[in-house]
Amino acid sequence: MRKINLVGSGLTFDDVLMEPQYNPIESRSHVDISGFLGLKTPVISSNMDTITETAMANWMHENGGLGALHRFMDIQRNIDQYKMSPQQTFVSLGVTKSELERAEALFKAGATNFMLDIAHAHSESARNAIKAYKEMFGNNAHLMAGTVATIEGAAFLAEAGADSIRVGIGGGSVCSTRIKTGFGVPQLSAIAECSFVGRPIIADGGCRSPGDIAKALAAGASAVILGGMLSGTYYTPGSIELTSNGAYKSFRGMASKEVAIDKLGGLAGYRAAEGVQVRVKSLSEQESNEIIQDIIGGLRSAFTYAGAKNLEEFQKKVVFIKVSGNVINENKPHKQG
Ligand code: 5GP
Repeated sequence: MRKINLVGSGLTFDDVLMEPQYNPIESRSHVDISGFLGLKTPVISSNMDTITETAMANWMHENGGLGALHRFMDIQRNIDQYKMSPQQTFVSLGVTKSELERAEALFKAGATNFMLDIAHAHSESARNAIKAYKEMFGNNAHLMAGTVATIEGAAFLAEAGADSIRVGIGGGSVCSTRIKTGFGVPQLSAIAECSFVGRPIIADGGCRSPGDIAKALAAGASAVILGGMLSGTYYTPGSIELTSNGAYKSFRGMASKEVAIDKLGGLAGYRAAEGVQVRVKSLSEQESNEIIQDIIGGLRSAFTYAGAKNLEEFQKKVVFIKVSGNVINENKPHKQG
């Protein structure tokens, strides 16, 4: 049982810790950290154009997680990338009518995991898109939809037909929605609140450490989506920039000015950029593998601190304690370049 009521209280990862519990499990190698869709590691790489293409999808799969291919490419390339990725890989869809064509082509190519990708999914356009995609797929594909950050938003997507709900508004490491609009819900509360919807919850954005991932799972998520934690890894797309200080790669919010310039020739006059671009250290294969090992090892350790042998027990047993109010750190872009 949780000691504090997280619903509506506006807490984020830094505001809480989890209290150690009696542990009957002999070794952390004995815990089962599997989650969403049976993933051995409940981690999905974000569908951002500086995070997930084929190489990342394959690397995630090798480590028990999943990749979510971004959709900022033409349909043929999207299909080719999907075909070179593990079968379970997620593919992404937008809400515009033209995306129906992408959905149909990917579905025909064998894709079964789809991610509807819209910044504010508690919206009529998301509902219409979900209806159209569900009509197309029937029961032959999984449709994750998001993002939302309230129980009303999660219930709205569930009602529209979403099979799982992607939760997180404004907490991403290269996101500036909260700064530009003042909207968002601190991520731990958003997860806890949405977890009552009766569909798997996928926590998206704001995880900076294996401990944050553990907190997201404890609060009710079945998996997390990671951008910043995987940025700069060997398997991310994009060119490497060599400088006198070392090698760097770009990592950028999908609503950044830089993406708008690359994909659309510029930001439309009525829009503000809600993402930023940063330079991150380009990591070697070994450094990248250490990041994944840290996540898997951190989660295994977290489960033993809770005395939990699987995710269901972990979510039941964890007791959060409130430690301080650090929401401000999550609200602004916080990825160090
Ligand atoms: P991170 O793991 O880096 O903290 O968060 C990754 C998530 O941030 C993505 O999966 C996506 O939901 C969100 N995101 C990516 N780009 C942008 C952006 O430009 N603006 C906003 N508001 N969110 C973004």
